[in-house]
Amino acid sequence: MSREKHDKTAGGAGEQNAAGELVSETQRVNILMVDDQPAKLLTYEAILADLDANLIKARSGREGLELLLKHDVAVVLLDVSMPEISGFEMADMMRDHPRFQMTAILFISAVRMSDLDRIRGYQSGAVDYISVPVVPEVLRAKVSIFAELHRKTRELENLNRELEHRVEQRTRQLQESENQFRTLANSIPQLAWMADSTGKVFWYNERWYDYTGASADGVEAAGWAGILHPEHLDRVISGRQRSLDTAESWEDTFPLLGKNGHYRWFLSRAVPIRDSEGVVARWFGTGTDISEQIAMEDLLRERADLLELASEAILVRDFAGMVQYWNAGAEALYGWPRAEALGKPVHQVLNTEFPVEPERIESALIEQGRWDGNLVQHTREGQEVIVASRQVFKKETGSILEINRDITAQMRAEEALRSAEKLAAMGRVAGIIAHEINNPLEAITNAFYLLRDHPSLDEEARYYAKLGDGELARVCHITKQTLGFYRESQHPVDVSIAGLLDDVLQLQGRQLLVNRITLDKKYLSHGHIRGFPVELRQVFFNLIGNAIQAMPDGGRLRIRMGERWNEAAGREDLRITFCDTGAGVQPEHSKHLFEPFFTTKSSKGTGLGLWISKGIIQKYDGTIQFRSMSFNGGNMTAFSVTLPGADPGMKVIAGANHTIAEEVARASRERA
Ligand code: ADP
Ligand code: MG
Repeated sequence: MSREKHDKTAGGAGEQNAAGELVSETQRVNILMVDDQPAKLLTYEAILADLDANLIKARSGREGLELLLKHDVAVVLLDVSMPEISGFEMADMMRDHPRFQMTAILFISAVRMSDLDRIRGYQSGAVDYISVPVVPEVLRAKVSIFAELHRKTRELENLNRELEHRVEQRTRQLQESENQFRTLANSIPQLAWMADSTGKVFWYNERWYDYTGASADGVEAAGWAGILHPEHLDRVISGRQRSLDTAESWEDTFPLLGKNGHYRWFLSRAVPIRDSEGVVARWFGTGTDISEQIAMEDLLRERADLLELASEAILVRDFAGMVQYWNAGAEALYGWPRAEALGKPVHQVLNTEFPVEPERIESALIEQGRWDGNLVQHTREGQEVIVASRQVFKKETGSILEINRDITAQMRAEEALRSAEKLAAMGRVAGIIAHEINNPLEAITNAFYLLRDHPSLDEEARYYAKLGDGELARVCHITKQTLGFYRESQHPVDVSIAGLLDDVLQLQGRQLLVNRITLDKKYLSHGHIRGFPVELRQVFFNLIGNAIQAMPDGGRLRIRMGERWNEAAGREDLRITFCDTGAGVQPEHSKHLFEPFFTTKSSKGTGLGLWISKGIIQKYDGTIQFRSMSFNGGNMTAFSVTLPGADPGMKVIAGANHTIAEEVARASRERA
């Protein structure tokens, strides 16, 4: 070690020197001549003068050694016999010095056998001798051979050094670019690895260790094969092999086990890197976590499945009205298979009738982003369907999502109830008339009976009386029939008012939604009474309908139902209250609300609802009342119905007009 160090420092100075000389005067070398006789030194100088070398003279072995240390000497011309330190002693000293072990020595000696033996004894380095007397040509030739040898050695050393320097530089560059590559590979969110030409990974990036939880020093322990889902192992291995064999890039997706014990899906890509001869030298790969993407795709697929499962017709159209999506519900409702509907103008295909101009729907979609309303459309067979349509405009895609629910049956039922209301009213009128006429009619019949056979009548008068009697009998018959029909009753049944109310609310559900009315209902009992469900339903349908119509711009409908002690009658009554925050009742109207044909809804109302309701409730021995007040700029209107319930001894109500209503309702149901 110390020797090496010594060598370097000692040699370093000399080499630098020599290198400097080589650059400036490439050919010139140093020749050291050691002889104790100056005359001889001069002779050698003269002989070697045209060698183009620096000739350095030393008068003794000691001086020679000193000069050796200072100069990079190619050849030492050494006199064997010198006083003090002989030539051999100096040569020995040189050979002991690592820097001079290889320095060429040319002994000058009187040829003696002992000298020659010694000279041959120098194993290492270039050694030769010249015998005295010196022949100039021989001396010159030998020195120049050694000098040339030295020059060549120096040149070689320089070349070597330069080469070493270049190699060092190149290694540094490679290391730098390798470091840059690793920094880059560590900064990406993907897993990354580098494998050799056999596909064996020798390096993973930090993300890999993060994900797998393997310790960063064990490339083996962190191996991918151990965390790849076993089902995918064979495929991945053969894919990798193919890529290595063909030098083509590779791509695959598979789950890798994370340190948390769960698999995540990765999209993996690898590229073989070829060396200058085109042979695969490295195999660099990355893995991108696509679990979220896959989950999202699954979700979308699920949503798409849900869309298919929906009973509503769900369709997407572009702004020009062309169908872009058509679900199974749409196929079922309209009878148009998806393949035929796609790309067609939807409202032309369905022959849609709009409740307002289509332009207004479009502008509502643009301005509010949505539109709700009923549409009349036609199936492929030409059958009319009424749909509750909800449309949403998607700005990002410029398309419109339309969800259409078939409400044809519901509309028919509502319509039937409305016409039942009218017919029930007529029935009631007929009943009243028949009833009112019947009493006097009976009196008249009796009178005619007496008149017909009165002795004071002549033949002609009797004929007329008989004629009148006959016609009267016909009138009686008609009245009786009408009255009979009116009075025709079935037996009352057990009715749950709660059930009836829920029926009606379901029927009115959509209207509540469209008018954005919040419903607050509370039943404190089931409200069981005996009665006729059809006519009671009629009452509630009208009261709830009126409340909804009074709140076109939203509001709150409160329904309460429960038992109540009736002090006067000494029994439990059932009370149902409908309270709305709608338009309220004008004071001047309040007297007329229960009158037939009183309506404030112009052509949209019949004005019969409350009148019929009152008639029905009265027959149950109940009451119907209302109260309307305004406060804080808002109104509150409450209608309450009281029915004698819960009384086991309650009289059975007969003669209700429900039969006509029922008949009509059934008839219209059948029609629908
Ligand atoms: P219609 O509903 O056909 O108009 P009704 O007999 O059911 O006939 O109602 C008569 C009138 O009573 C209505 O036109 C309306 O002016 C008034 N009315 C009924 N209920 C309410 C209510 N909840 N709020 C305000 N006004 C009502
Ligand atoms: Mg009404």
